[in-house]
Amino acid sequence: MPENTVCNLCDSPETYSKSSEQRQVACHVRKFQNDNFTVWRCGGCQSLHSKEVVDLDSYYADYPLKKHTLDFHAKIGYRNRIKLLTRCGLSKDTKILDYGCGNGLFVTFLQSNGYAFANGFDPYIPEYAGTPLEPGSFDIVTSYDVIEHVDNPKSYLETLISLVKPGGLLVLGTPNAEEIDLFDPDGPPVELSQPYHRHILSARTLFKLAEDKALEVVDVYRRFYFDSLLPLVNTRCMWTYIRSTGGMIDAAVEPIQWGVFLKSPRLLLYAFLGYFYPPKGNILVTFRVGRSQAVPE
Ligand SMILES: [Zn+2]
Repeated sequence: MPENTVCNLCDSPETYSKSSEQRQVACHVRKFQNDNFTVWRCGGCQSLHSKEVVDLDSYYADYPLKKHTLDFHAKIGYRNRIKLLTRCGLSKDTKILDYGCGNGLFVTFLQSNGYAFANGFDPYIPEYAGTPLEPGSFDIVTSYDVIEHVDNPKSYLETLISLVKPGGLLVLGTPNAEEIDLFDPDGPPVELSQPYHRHILSARTLFKLAEDKALEVVDVYRRFYFDSLLPLVNTRCMWTYIRSTGGMIDAAVEPIQWGVFLKSPRLLLYAFLGYFYPPKGNILVTFRVGRSQAVPE
């Protein structure tokens, strides 16, 4: 496979060699922290691309967030997801599919809260790899933090759309390249997540691709869904804590180092009031799939 040196997302693609924004970014997983990758921005659409071809299997084999369990933090985030879905029409009868569901934590959470028709699909997880994916059969398809991991976001989007019933909803959560400062003086933003994030779409690109597919924007949520008013459970606190402990994502699943909080008044402030300082860099959009899409020509 060739390197990502031409933007695969926009109509006026820029090339890596002409890009005015490029940065070497280290992997934020402790085991691979000495591995560096080139991230560059397309001047045409502001999306970000990871340049090098990488054997991702070895990186995913030791990805710390795979150890996530349905803990207190996760439940708060998933409750927020349900709240956002409900305001767009989710009910207990909804046939909902979480595409790229990982080990299925959100699916389990939905089912245990009475959403009996919730299911998940993930080609890398045996339990969810065989889920029947009949075209046009789901009321809602969700995809949280997956599209930035795939090699071809356009065809991924087409796959998601094909699964939604005409008039149903597609919910996409992803980092927003427009709000990610490649040269952030505090260090590379967590959202860059190298080499895992292959292409990070700008919001304008996401909306353009959606428009091309006749998707209607129903709801836009411009903060990370894990934010809450509870102490410690907000993105600002989490990201600041990770940076204060060396910038490795491993810190998110390791025992909390309380000493770090005591040494940083800023981190302490964010622990309690971080909800009111939401970091930019994420977007969650609900689209309605056109009723005409599934009608044969
Ligand atoms: Zn582009």
